[in-house]
Amino acid sequence: MATVEQQLPDGAELRKHNGIIGAGEGIPVENPATGEIVATVPDLGAEGVAEMAVRARAAQPEWEAYGFDGRARVLIRAQKWLMDNAERVVETIVSETGKTYEDAQLAEIGYAGNAFGFWAKEGPNYLADESVKSSQVLVKGKKLVLRFRPLGLIGVIGPWNYPLTNSFGDCIPALMAGNSVILKPSEITPLTSLLLAEGLRECGLPENVLQIATGRGATGAALVEHVDMIMFTGSTKTGTKVAETAARRLIPASLELGGKDPMIVLADADLERAANFATYYSMQNAGQTCISIERVYVEEPVYDEFVAKVSEKVRALRVGKPEGFGSVEVGAITFPPQLETIKDHVADAVQRGARVVTGGQEVAGAGRFYEPTVLVDVDHSMKCMTEETFGPTLPIMKVSDADEAVRLANDSPYGLGASVFSKDTARGEAIARRLEAGAANVNDAMINYTVLELPMGGAKASGLGSRHGAGGIRKYCSQQAIVVTKLAMKKELFMYPYKPRTSKMLAGLFKFMYGRGKRA
Ligand code: NDP
Repeated sequence: MATVEQQLPDGAELRKHNGIIGAGEGIPVENPATGEIVATVPDLGAEGVAEMAVRARAAQPEWEAYGFDGRARVLIRAQKWLMDNAERVVETIVSETGKTYEDAQLAEIGYAGNAFGFWAKEGPNYLADESVKSSQVLVKGKKLVLRFRPLGLIGVIGPWNYPLTNSFGDCIPALMAGNSVILKPSEITPLTSLLLAEGLRECGLPENVLQIATGRGATGAALVEHVDMIMFTGSTKTGTKVAETAARRLIPASLELGGKDPMIVLADADLERAANFATYYSMQNAGQTCISIERVYVEEPVYDEFVAKVSEKVRALRVGKPEGFGSVEVGAITFPPQLETIKDHVADAVQRGARVVTGGQEVAGAGRFYEPTVLVDVDHSMKCMTEETFGPTLPIMKVSDADEAVRLANDSPYGLGASVFSKDTARGEAIARRLEAGAANVNDAMINYTVLELPMGGAKASGLGSRHGAGGIRKYCSQQAIVVTKLAMKKELFMYPYKPRTSKMLAGLFKFMYGRGKRA
Protein backbone atom coordinates (compact mmCIF):
# COMPACT_ATOMS: atom_id res chain seq x y z
CA MET A 1 0.00 0.00 0.00
CA ALA A 2 1.35 3.40 -0.94
CA THR A 3 0.62 6.57 0.87
CA VAL A 4 -0.56 9.54 -1.11
CA GLU A 5 2.85 11.13 -0.66
CA GLN A 6 4.39 8.38 -2.78
CA GLN A 7 1.95 9.15 -5.57
CA LEU A 8 3.11 12.71 -5.83
CA PRO A 9 6.37 14.46 -6.66
CA ASP A 10 7.14 16.09 -3.35
CA GLY A 11 5.12 14.51 -0.64
CA ALA A 12 6.71 16.37 2.24
CA GLU A 13 5.67 19.68 0.73
CA LEU A 14 2.19 18.37 0.16
CA ARG A 15 1.86 17.56 3.84
CA LYS A 16 2.96 21.04 4.74
CA HIS A 17 0.85 22.70 2.06
CA ASN A 18 -2.33 21.00 3.15
CA GLY A 19 -1.48 21.29 6.80
CA ILE A 20 -2.49 17.69 7.08
CA ILE A 21 -3.39 16.83 10.62
CA GLY A 22 -5.76 13.98 9.77
CA ALA A 23 -7.90 12.43 12.41
CA GLY A 24 -8.19 8.67 12.80
CA GLU A 25 -6.63 6.10 10.53
CA GLY A 26 -6.89 7.93 7.23
CA ILE A 27 -8.94 6.90 4.22
CA PRO A 28 -7.79 4.11 1.89
CA VAL A 29 -8.21 4.83 -1.81
CA GLU A 30 -9.07 1.77 -3.87
CA ASN A 31 -8.51 1.14 -7.55
CA PRO A 32 -12.02 -0.07 -8.51
CA ALA A 33 -10.64 -1.97 -11.50
CA THR A 34 -8.35 -4.15 -9.38
CA GLY A 35 -9.51 -3.88 -5.79
CA GLU A 36 -6.00 -2.76 -4.75
CA ILE A 37 -5.50 0.02 -2.23
CA VAL A 38 -3.38 2.58 -4.07
CA ALA A 39 -3.07 5.28 -1.42
CA THR A 40 -4.30 6.52 1.91
CA VAL A 41 -5.27 10.11 2.57
CA PRO A 42 -5.99 11.91 5.84
CA ASP A 43 -9.52 12.25 7.13
CA LEU A 44 -9.43 15.93 7.95
CA GLY A 45 -12.72 16.31 9.80
CA ALA A 46 -14.25 19.49 11.17
CA GLU A 47 -11.16 20.66 13.05
CA GLY A 48 -8.90 20.35 10.04
CA VAL A 49 -11.37 22.26 7.87
CA ALA A 50 -11.59 25.06 10.43
CA GLU A 51 -7.80 25.45 10.38
CA MET A 52 -7.75 25.45 6.59
CA ALA A 53 -10.40 28.16 6.52
CA VAL A 54 -8.28 30.44 8.71
CA ARG A 55 -5.28 29.97 6.43
CA ALA A 56 -7.40 30.43 3.30
CA ARG A 57 -8.82 33.74 4.54
CA ALA A 58 -5.36 35.02 5.39
CA ALA A 59 -4.10 34.12 1.89
CA GLN A 60 -6.99 35.58 -0.12
CA PRO A 61 -6.22 39.33 -0.14
CA GLU A 62 -2.80 38.81 -1.70
CA TRP A 63 -4.32 36.61 -4.40
CA GLU A 64 -7.03 39.17 -5.12
CA ALA A 65 -4.31 41.81 -5.37
CA TYR A 66 -2.66 39.81 -8.20
CA GLY A 67 -5.42 41.27 -10.38
CA PHE A 68 -6.85 39.65 -13.49
CA ASP A 69 -3.51 39.59 -15.30
CA GLY A 70 -1.58 38.04 -12.45
CA ARG A 71 -4.21 35.39 -11.84
CA ALA A 72 -4.59 34.64 -15.54
CA ARG A 73 -0.82 34.09 -15.78
CA VAL A 74 -0.99 31.41 -13.09
CA LEU A 75 -3.92 29.70 -14.84
CA ILE A 76 -2.17 29.72 -18.20
CA ARG A 77 0.92 28.18 -16.60
CA ALA A 78 -1.37 25.59 -15.05
CA GLN A 79 -2.86 24.84 -18.46
CA LYS A 80 0.61 24.10 -19.79
CA TRP A 81 1.48 22.12 -16.64
CA LEU A 82 -1.60 19.96 -17.24
CA MET A 83 -0.54 19.20 -20.80
CA ASP A 84 3.07 18.51 -19.74
CA ASN A 85 1.82 16.18 -17.01
CA ALA A 86 -1.19 14.76 -18.84
CA GLU A 87 0.08 11.19 -18.69
CA ARG A 88 0.57 11.32 -14.92
CA VAL A 89 -2.82 12.95 -14.38
CA VAL A 90 -4.55 10.34 -16.57
CA GLU A 91 -2.82 7.53 -14.64
CA THR A 92 -3.95 9.06 -11.36
CA ILE A 93 -7.55 9.45 -12.55
CA VAL A 94 -7.62 5.88 -13.88
CA SER A 95 -6.07 4.52 -10.68
CA GLU A 96 -8.80 5.94 -8.44
CA THR A 97 -11.86 5.70 -10.73
CA GLY A 98 -11.13 2.59 -12.82
CA LYS A 99 -12.36 4.46 -15.89
CA THR A 100 -10.82 3.95 -19.32
CA TYR A 101 -7.82 5.99 -20.43
CA GLU A 102 -9.93 7.50 -23.19
CA ASP A 103 -12.65 8.61 -20.75
CA ALA A 104 -9.97 10.22 -18.57
CA GLN A 105 -8.31 11.93 -21.50
CA LEU A 106 -11.34 13.24 -23.38
CA ALA A 107 -13.74 14.22 -20.64
CA GLU A 108 -11.23 15.22 -17.97
CA ILE A 109 -7.91 16.38 -19.46
CA GLY A 110 -9.74 17.83 -22.48
CA TYR A 111 -12.19 19.69 -20.25
CA ALA A 112 -9.67 21.08 -17.77
CA GLY A 113 -7.17 22.05 -20.49
CA ASN A 114 -9.87 24.12 -22.15
CA ALA A 115 -11.22 25.50 -18.86
CA PHE A 116 -7.89 26.94 -17.66
CA GLY A 117 -7.54 28.94 -20.88
CA PHE A 118 -11.21 29.88 -21.08
CA TRP A 119 -11.45 31.37 -17.60
CA ALA A 120 -8.07 33.10 -17.90
CA LYS A 121 -9.31 34.81 -21.08
CA GLU A 122 -13.03 35.32 -20.41
CA GLY A 123 -12.97 35.82 -16.64
CA PRO A 124 -11.82 39.45 -16.93
CA ASN A 125 -14.54 40.14 -19.53
CA TYR A 126 -17.32 38.60 -17.45
CA LEU A 127 -16.15 40.40 -14.31
CA ALA A 128 -15.22 43.77 -15.78
CA ASP A 129 -16.99 46.80 -14.34
CA GLU A 130 -20.21 47.42 -16.26
CA SER A 131 -21.23 50.96 -17.00
CA VAL A 132 -25.01 51.15 -16.58
CA LYS A 133 -27.52 53.52 -18.15
CA SER A 134 -30.74 54.30 -16.32
CA SER A 135 -34.12 55.72 -17.34
CA GLN A 136 -34.55 57.01 -13.77
CA VAL A 137 -34.74 60.77 -13.99
CA LEU A 138 -33.27 61.34 -10.53
CA VAL A 139 -29.90 59.87 -11.55
CA LYS A 140 -29.47 61.70 -14.85
CA GLY A 141 -25.84 62.73 -15.23
CA LYS A 142 -24.53 60.38 -12.57
CA LYS A 143 -21.99 57.62 -13.13
CA LEU A 144 -23.56 54.18 -12.56
CA VAL A 145 -21.36 51.10 -12.30
CA LEU A 146 -22.02 47.45 -11.60
CA ARG A 147 -18.96 45.91 -10.05
CA PHE A 148 -18.10 42.30 -9.17
CA ARG A 149 -15.81 41.49 -6.31
CA PRO A 150 -14.70 38.12 -4.97
CA LEU A 151 -16.76 36.68 -2.13
CA GLY A 152 -13.63 35.60 -0.25
CA LEU A 153 -13.55 31.90 0.56
CA ILE A 154 -15.31 29.42 -1.71
CA GLY A 155 -16.00 25.80 -0.78
CA VAL A 156 -16.16 23.29 -3.63
CA ILE A 157 -17.50 19.81 -2.91
CA GLY A 158 -17.19 17.26 -5.69
CA PRO A 159 -18.36 13.75 -6.63
CA TRP A 160 -16.29 10.70 -7.55
CA ASN A 161 -17.27 10.29 -11.20
CA TYR A 162 -15.09 13.09 -12.65
CA PRO A 163 -12.36 14.00 -10.14
CA LEU A 164 -10.78 16.52 -12.49
CA THR A 165 -13.74 17.96 -14.39
CA ASN A 166 -16.36 18.08 -11.67
CA SER A 167 -14.35 18.39 -8.49
CA PHE A 168 -11.40 20.46 -9.58
CA GLY A 169 -13.03 22.15 -12.60
CA ASP A 170 -15.24 24.41 -10.50
CA CYS A 171 -12.20 25.71 -8.60
CA ILE A 172 -10.84 27.35 -11.76
CA PRO A 173 -13.41 30.18 -12.17
CA ALA A 174 -13.58 30.61 -8.37
CA LEU A 175 -9.81 31.20 -8.31
CA MET A 176 -9.87 33.42 -11.40
CA ALA A 177 -12.42 35.62 -9.65
CA GLY A 178 -9.88 36.23 -6.85
CA ASN A 179 -11.15 33.89 -4.15
CA SER A 180 -9.31 31.36 -2.11
CA VAL A 181 -10.80 27.88 -2.40
CA ILE A 182 -11.07 24.78 -0.26
CA LEU A 183 -11.93 21.73 -2.34
CA LYS A 184 -13.41 18.67 -0.70
CA PRO A 185 -13.15 15.84 -3.22
CA SER A 186 -15.07 12.62 -2.78
CA GLU A 187 -13.35 10.31 -0.31
CA ILE A 188 -13.41 7.74 -3.13
CA THR A 189 -11.31 9.86 -5.53
CA PRO A 190 -9.13 12.42 -3.71
CA LEU A 191 -5.81 11.83 -5.51
CA THR A 192 -6.45 13.84 -8.67
CA SER A 193 -7.34 16.94 -6.65
CA LEU A 194 -4.18 16.58 -4.54
CA LEU A 195 -2.08 16.25 -7.68
CA LEU A 196 -3.68 19.31 -9.31
CA ALA A 197 -3.14 21.39 -6.17
CA GLU A 198 0.54 20.46 -6.36
CA GLY A 199 0.61 21.45 -10.01
CA LEU A 200 -0.92 24.84 -9.27
CA ARG A 201 1.64 25.49 -6.57
CA GLU A 202 4.39 24.73 -9.07
CA CYS A 203 2.74 27.27 -11.36
CA GLY A 204 2.97 30.02 -8.75
CA LEU A 205 -0.36 29.87 -6.93
CA PRO A 206 0.36 31.34 -3.50
CA GLU A 207 0.31 29.04 -0.49
CA ASN A 208 -3.15 28.25 0.95
CA VAL A 209 -5.11 29.88 -1.88
CA LEU A 210 -6.20 26.38 -2.92
CA GLN A 211 -6.34 23.66 -0.28
CA ILE A 212 -7.66 20.13 -0.55
CA ALA A 213 -9.77 18.95 2.37
CA THR A 214 -9.62 15.19 2.10
CA GLY A 215 -12.17 13.44 4.22
CA ARG A 216 -15.57 11.84 4.38
CA GLY A 217 -19.06 13.37 4.33
CA ALA A 218 -18.51 15.03 7.70
CA THR A 219 -15.59 16.98 6.25
CA GLY A 220 -17.87 18.25 3.48
CA ALA A 221 -20.56 19.18 5.99
CA ALA A 222 -17.97 21.08 8.06
CA LEU A 223 -16.77 22.95 4.99
CA VAL A 224 -20.23 24.41 4.35
CA GLU A 225 -20.06 25.91 7.85
CA HIS A 226 -16.92 27.95 7.07
CA VAL A 227 -17.14 29.31 3.55
CA ASP A 228 -18.74 32.37 1.97
CA MET A 229 -20.27 30.35 -0.87
CA ILE A 230 -20.61 26.66 -1.61
CA MET A 231 -20.37 25.01 -5.02
CA PHE A 232 -21.68 21.48 -4.67
CA THR A 233 -21.79 18.67 -7.22
CA GLY A 234 -23.25 15.36 -6.16
CA SER A 235 -26.48 13.59 -5.40
CA THR A 236 -29.79 15.37 -4.90
CA LYS A 237 -29.99 13.86 -1.41
CA THR A 238 -26.69 15.36 -0.20
CA GLY A 239 -27.29 18.55 -2.17
CA THR A 240 -30.46 19.13 -0.19
CA LYS A 241 -28.50 18.88 3.08
CA VAL A 242 -25.92 21.33 1.77
CA ALA A 243 -28.69 23.74 0.73
CA GLU A 244 -30.22 23.55 4.21
CA THR A 245 -26.95 24.53 5.87
CA ALA A 246 -26.35 27.27 3.31
CA ALA A 247 -29.85 28.66 3.97
CA ARG A 248 -29.25 28.71 7.72
CA ARG A 249 -25.94 30.54 7.20
CA LEU A 250 -27.40 32.79 4.47
CA ILE A 251 -24.62 31.98 2.04
CA PRO A 252 -25.19 31.32 -1.67
CA ALA A 253 -25.17 27.70 -2.84
CA SER A 254 -24.79 26.47 -6.39
CA LEU A 255 -25.98 22.88 -6.72
CA GLU A 256 -25.26 20.51 -9.60
CA LEU A 257 -27.20 17.35 -8.80
CA GLY A 258 -28.43 14.10 -10.26
CA GLY A 259 -30.11 13.44 -13.58
CA LYS A 260 -32.12 10.92 -15.57
CA ASP A 261 -31.51 12.26 -19.05
CA PRO A 262 -33.95 11.21 -21.76
CA MET A 263 -33.19 10.77 -25.45
CA ILE A 264 -36.00 11.00 -27.99
CA VAL A 265 -35.63 9.34 -31.38
CA LEU A 266 -38.19 10.48 -33.94
CA ALA A 267 -39.18 8.32 -36.90
CA ASP A 268 -37.28 10.53 -39.35
CA ALA A 269 -33.98 10.42 -37.42
CA ASP A 270 -30.68 9.30 -38.91
CA LEU A 271 -30.89 5.97 -37.10
CA GLU A 272 -27.24 5.08 -37.50
CA ARG A 273 -26.18 8.35 -35.87
CA ALA A 274 -28.86 8.06 -33.17
CA ALA A 275 -27.76 4.49 -32.36
CA ASN A 276 -24.10 5.47 -32.17
CA PHE A 277 -24.93 8.38 -29.86
CA ALA A 278 -27.21 6.27 -27.66
CA THR A 279 -24.48 3.66 -27.32
CA TYR A 280 -21.63 6.06 -26.63
CA TYR A 281 -23.39 8.50 -24.33
CA SER A 282 -24.99 5.77 -22.22
CA MET A 283 -21.83 3.65 -21.86
CA GLN A 284 -19.11 6.35 -21.81
CA ASN A 285 -17.52 6.50 -18.34
CA ALA A 286 -19.44 3.26 -17.68
CA GLY A 287 -22.63 5.34 -17.55
CA GLN A 288 -21.39 7.23 -14.49
CA THR A 289 -22.04 10.69 -15.86
CA CYS A 290 -24.70 13.04 -14.56
CA ILE A 291 -25.71 13.86 -18.15
CA SER A 292 -25.36 10.40 -19.66
CA ILE A 293 -28.31 9.08 -21.66
CA GLU A 294 -30.24 7.11 -19.04
CA ARG A 295 -33.43 6.28 -21.02
CA VAL A 296 -34.53 6.35 -24.65
CA TYR A 297 -37.98 6.89 -26.21
CA VAL A 298 -38.28 5.78 -29.83
CA GLU A 299 -41.19 6.35 -32.21
CA GLU A 300 -42.89 3.09 -33.07
CA PRO A 301 -42.06 2.84 -36.83
CA VAL A 302 -38.29 2.80 -36.21
CA TYR A 303 -38.21 1.15 -32.80
CA ASP A 304 -37.19 -2.37 -33.88
CA GLU A 305 -34.47 -1.15 -36.20
CA PHE A 306 -33.08 1.22 -33.56
CA VAL A 307 -33.03 -1.49 -30.88
CA ALA A 308 -31.27 -3.88 -33.28
CA LYS A 309 -28.60 -1.31 -34.12
CA VAL A 310 -27.96 -0.29 -30.51
CA SER A 311 -27.87 -3.89 -29.28
CA GLU A 312 -25.32 -4.87 -31.90
CA LYS A 313 -23.10 -1.91 -30.98
CA VAL A 314 -23.39 -2.47 -27.22
CA ARG A 315 -22.69 -6.19 -27.60
CA ALA A 316 -19.38 -5.32 -29.27
CA LEU A 317 -18.09 -3.27 -26.32
CA ARG A 318 -15.22 -4.64 -24.27
CA VAL A 319 -15.55 -4.25 -20.51
CA GLY A 320 -12.78 -4.72 -17.97
CA LYS A 321 -9.63 -3.37 -16.40
CA PRO A 322 -8.18 -0.52 -18.45
CA GLU A 323 -4.62 -1.47 -19.43
CA GLY A 324 -3.87 1.62 -21.50
CA PHE A 325 -5.38 3.42 -24.48
CA GLY A 326 -7.47 1.17 -26.71
CA SER A 327 -7.71 -1.69 -24.22
CA VAL A 328 -11.42 -1.55 -23.27
CA GLU A 329 -14.44 0.64 -23.99
CA VAL A 330 -16.17 0.30 -20.63
CA GLY A 331 -14.27 0.59 -17.35
CA ALA A 332 -15.08 -0.06 -13.71
CA ILE A 333 -17.93 0.94 -11.42
CA THR A 334 -16.13 3.45 -9.25
CA PHE A 335 -18.32 3.67 -6.16
CA PRO A 336 -18.99 0.30 -4.44
CA PRO A 337 -22.69 0.89 -3.56
CA GLN A 338 -23.39 1.97 -7.15
CA LEU A 339 -23.00 -1.62 -8.33
CA GLU A 340 -25.85 -2.64 -6.02
CA THR A 341 -28.06 0.14 -7.45
CA ILE A 342 -27.36 -1.02 -11.01
CA LYS A 343 -28.11 -4.66 -10.15
CA ASP A 344 -31.26 -3.60 -8.32
CA HIS A 345 -32.55 -1.53 -11.25
CA VAL A 346 -31.99 -4.35 -13.75
CA ALA A 347 -33.54 -6.96 -11.44
CA ASP A 348 -36.53 -4.71 -10.76
CA ALA A 349 -37.05 -4.13 -14.50
CA VAL A 350 -36.86 -7.86 -15.31
CA GLN A 351 -39.22 -8.69 -12.48
CA ARG A 352 -41.75 -6.20 -13.91
CA GLY A 353 -41.57 -7.64 -17.41
CA ALA A 354 -38.54 -6.06 -19.09
CA ARG A 355 -36.28 -8.09 -21.35
CA VAL A 356 -32.48 -7.98 -21.28
CA VAL A 357 -31.31 -7.88 -24.91
CA THR A 358 -27.63 -7.90 -24.03
CA GLY A 359 -25.62 -7.79 -20.79
CA GLY A 360 -27.49 -7.83 -17.51
CA GLN A 361 -24.83 -9.30 -15.24
CA GLU A 362 -22.05 -8.20 -12.96
CA VAL A 363 -18.67 -9.26 -14.38
CA ALA A 364 -17.05 -11.86 -12.13
CA GLY A 365 -13.45 -11.54 -10.96
CA ALA A 366 -11.26 -8.87 -9.41
CA GLY A 367 -12.47 -5.31 -9.69
CA ARG A 368 -16.02 -3.99 -10.03
CA PHE A 369 -17.58 -4.21 -13.48
CA TYR A 370 -21.05 -4.51 -14.96
CA GLU A 371 -21.82 -5.73 -18.46
CA PRO A 372 -23.00 -3.08 -20.93
CA THR A 373 -26.72 -3.71 -20.89
CA VAL A 374 -29.72 -2.99 -23.12
CA LEU A 375 -33.23 -3.36 -21.70
CA VAL A 376 -36.48 -3.34 -23.72
CA ASP A 377 -40.20 -3.71 -22.89
CA VAL A 378 -39.64 -1.12 -20.20
CA ASP A 379 -42.09 1.39 -18.76
CA HIS A 380 -42.35 4.00 -16.01
CA SER A 381 -43.33 1.47 -13.34
CA MET A 382 -39.65 0.46 -13.36
CA LYS A 383 -36.78 2.06 -11.43
CA CYS A 384 -34.56 1.92 -14.53
CA MET A 385 -36.86 4.52 -16.16
CA THR A 386 -37.47 6.78 -13.18
CA GLU A 387 -34.43 6.67 -10.86
CA GLU A 388 -30.81 7.55 -11.59
CA THR A 389 -29.04 4.25 -12.39
CA PHE A 390 -25.57 5.68 -13.03
CA GLY A 391 -24.28 2.57 -14.74
CA PRO A 392 -23.70 1.02 -18.18
CA THR A 393 -27.38 0.29 -18.81
CA LEU A 394 -29.74 1.59 -21.48
CA PRO A 395 -33.50 1.03 -21.28
CA ILE A 396 -35.29 1.70 -24.60
CA MET A 397 -39.04 2.33 -24.69
CA LYS A 398 -41.42 2.38 -27.67
CA VAL A 399 -43.72 5.43 -27.95
CA SER A 400 -46.59 6.12 -30.32
CA ASP A 401 -45.58 9.65 -31.20
CA ALA A 402 -43.48 12.69 -30.24
CA ASP A 403 -46.09 13.99 -27.80
CA GLU A 404 -45.95 10.78 -25.81
CA ALA A 405 -42.15 10.94 -25.85
CA VAL A 406 -42.19 14.52 -24.50
CA ARG A 407 -44.72 13.63 -21.81
CA LEU A 408 -42.64 10.67 -20.63
CA ALA A 409 -39.35 12.58 -20.87
CA ASN A 410 -40.81 15.24 -18.58
CA ASP A 411 -42.28 12.65 -16.23
CA SER A 412 -39.27 12.81 -13.91
CA PRO A 413 -38.23 14.69 -10.80
CA TYR A 414 -34.96 15.44 -12.60
CA GLY A 415 -34.24 17.91 -15.38
CA LEU A 416 -30.54 18.00 -16.19
CA GLY A 417 -29.98 17.23 -19.89
CA ALA A 418 -31.96 15.80 -22.81
CA SER A 419 -31.57 15.05 -26.49
CA VAL A 420 -33.78 14.77 -29.57
CA PHE A 421 -32.86 13.10 -32.84
CA SER A 422 -34.63 14.10 -36.06
CA LYS A 423 -33.53 15.07 -39.57
CA ASP A 424 -36.04 17.93 -39.33
CA THR A 425 -33.93 20.15 -37.10
CA ALA A 426 -36.65 22.82 -36.74
CA ARG A 427 -39.02 20.18 -35.39
CA GLY A 428 -36.23 18.75 -33.25
CA GLU A 429 -35.59 22.18 -31.75
CA ALA A 430 -39.30 22.77 -31.16
CA ILE A 431 -39.42 19.50 -29.21
CA ALA A 432 -36.19 20.35 -27.35
CA ARG A 433 -37.84 23.59 -26.17
CA ARG A 434 -40.70 21.56 -24.62
CA LEU A 435 -38.35 19.46 -22.49
CA GLU A 436 -37.95 20.34 -18.82
CA ALA A 437 -34.17 20.19 -18.80
CA GLY A 438 -31.32 22.60 -18.19
CA ALA A 439 -29.85 21.64 -21.57
CA ALA A 440 -31.31 20.00 -24.66
CA ASN A 441 -29.24 18.85 -27.64
CA VAL A 442 -30.67 18.22 -31.10
CA ASN A 443 -28.94 15.38 -33.00
CA ASP A 444 -26.31 15.33 -30.27
CA ALA A 445 -25.94 14.58 -26.57
CA MET A 446 -23.89 15.86 -23.67
CA ILE A 447 -21.94 18.17 -25.99
CA ASN A 448 -23.34 21.28 -24.29
CA TYR A 449 -21.05 20.54 -21.33
CA THR A 450 -18.01 21.36 -23.46
CA VAL A 451 -19.41 24.76 -24.44
CA LEU A 452 -18.06 26.86 -21.61
CA GLU A 453 -19.84 29.94 -22.99
CA LEU A 454 -23.25 28.32 -22.27
CA PRO A 455 -24.66 27.83 -18.77
CA MET A 456 -24.79 24.22 -17.58
CA GLY A 457 -27.20 23.50 -14.78
CA GLY A 458 -30.26 21.50 -13.93
CA ALA A 459 -33.97 22.15 -13.69
CA LYS A 460 -36.22 20.64 -11.00
CA ALA A 461 -34.36 18.28 -8.61
CA SER A 462 -31.22 18.43 -10.76
CA GLY A 463 -30.00 21.57 -9.12
CA LEU A 464 -29.95 25.27 -8.50
CA GLY A 465 -27.76 27.70 -10.39
CA SER A 466 -25.31 26.73 -13.09
CA ARG A 467 -21.66 26.51 -14.02
CA HIS A 468 -20.07 28.01 -17.16
CA GLY A 469 -20.91 31.23 -18.98
CA ALA A 470 -20.99 34.63 -17.30
CA GLY A 471 -23.04 33.27 -14.40
CA GLY A 472 -20.44 30.53 -13.87
CA ILE A 473 -17.91 33.05 -12.56
CA ARG A 474 -20.15 35.87 -11.34
CA LYS A 475 -21.63 33.47 -8.79
CA TYR A 476 -18.27 33.51 -7.00
CA CYS A 477 -18.58 37.27 -6.55
CA SER A 478 -20.80 39.72 -4.78
CA GLN A 479 -22.24 42.54 -6.84
CA GLN A 480 -21.69 46.10 -5.84
CA ALA A 481 -23.64 49.02 -7.28
CA ILE A 482 -21.59 52.21 -7.46
CA VAL A 483 -23.23 55.58 -8.04
CA VAL A 484 -20.99 58.62 -8.47
CA THR A 485 -22.44 62.14 -8.59
CA LYS A 486 -20.09 64.45 -10.42
CA LEU A 487 -22.08 67.65 -11.00
CA ALA A 488 -23.32 68.15 -7.46
CA MET A 489 -25.78 70.85 -6.43
CA LYS A 490 -26.05 71.84 -2.78
CA LYS A 491 -29.30 69.88 -2.50
CA GLU A 492 -31.87 68.08 -4.61
CA LEU A 493 -35.27 69.45 -5.50
CA PHE A 494 -37.23 66.87 -3.48
CA MET A 495 -35.41 67.51 -0.20
CA TYR A 496 -36.58 69.43 2.86
CA PRO A 497 -38.47 71.57 3.41
CA TYR A 498 -41.50 69.96 1.71
CA LYS A 499 -43.52 72.51 -0.24
CA PRO A 500 -46.91 72.01 -1.96
CA ARG A 501 -45.62 73.62 -5.15
CA THR A 502 -42.63 71.29 -5.54
CA SER A 503 -44.72 68.23 -4.66
CA LYS A 504 -47.32 69.19 -7.30
CA MET A 505 -44.60 69.67 -9.86
CA LEU A 506 -43.17 66.21 -9.08
CA ALA A 507 -46.67 64.67 -9.33
CA GLY A 508 -47.04 66.24 -12.77
CA LEU A 509 -43.65 64.94 -13.80
CA PHE A 510 -44.49 61.37 -12.68
CA LYS A 511 -47.82 61.50 -14.55
CA PHE A 512 -46.04 62.68 -17.67
CA MET A 513 -43.44 59.96 -17.45
CA TYR A 514 -45.50 56.98 -16.26
CA GLY A 515 -49.14 57.86 -16.84
CA ARG A 516 -49.46 57.90 -20.61
CA GLY A 517 -49.85 54.15 -21.15
CA LYS A 518 -46.91 54.15 -23.54
CA ARG A 519 -43.41 52.73 -23.42
CA ALA A 520 -40.95 55.37 -22.31
P1 NDP B 1 -22.75 12.42 -3.06
O1 NDP B 1 -23.84 13.39 -2.90
O2 NDP B 1 -22.82 11.15 -2.32
O3 NDP B 1 -21.36 13.08 -2.64
C1 NDP B 1 -20.89 14.28 -3.25
C2 NDP B 1 -19.86 14.91 -2.33
O4 NDP B 1 -20.50 15.35 -1.13
C3 NDP B 1 -18.77 13.96 -1.89
O5 NDP B 1 -17.54 14.66 -1.82
C4 NDP B 1 -19.23 13.55 -0.52
O6 NDP B 1 -18.19 13.09 0.30
C5 NDP B 1 -19.79 14.86 0.00
N1 NDP B 1 -20.70 14.75 1.13
C6 NDP B 1 -21.28 13.65 1.66
N2 NDP B 1 -22.09 13.99 2.69
C7 NDP B 1 -22.01 15.35 2.82
C8 NDP B 1 -22.63 16.30 3.68
N3 NDP B 1 -23.50 15.94 4.63
N4 NDP B 1 -22.33 17.59 3.51
C9 NDP B 1 -21.48 17.99 2.53
N5 NDP B 1 -20.87 17.14 1.69
C10 NDP B 1 -21.13 15.83 1.82
O7 NDP B 1 -22.60 12.18 -4.63
P2 NDP B 1 -21.66 11.15 -5.38
O8 NDP B 1 -20.24 11.39 -4.98
O9 NDP B 1 -22.23 9.79 -5.21
O10 NDP B 1 -21.78 11.62 -6.90
C11 NDP B 1 -22.71 11.09 -7.78
C12 NDP B 1 -23.85 12.07 -7.98
O11 NDP B 1 -23.35 13.30 -8.48
C13 NDP B 1 -24.86 11.59 -9.00
O12 NDP B 1 -26.17 11.83 -8.52
C14 NDP B 1 -24.57 12.49 -10.21
O13 NDP B 1 -25.68 12.66 -11.05
C15 NDP B 1 -24.16 13.76 -9.54
N6 NDP B 1 -23.39 14.59 -10.45
C16 NDP B 1 -23.96 15.75 -10.94
C17 NDP B 1 -23.28 16.52 -11.85
C18 NDP B 1 -23.89 17.79 -12.39
O14 NDP B 1 -23.18 18.57 -13.01
N7 NDP B 1 -25.17 18.06 -12.18
C19 NDP B 1 -21.96 16.15 -12.34
C20 NDP B 1 -21.45 14.93 -11.76
C21 NDP B 1 -22.16 14.20 -10.86
P3 NDP B 1 -17.84 11.52 0.36
O15 NDP B 1 -17.74 11.02 -1.05
O16 NDP B 1 -16.54 11.51 1.04
O17 NDP B 1 -18.98 10.88 1.11
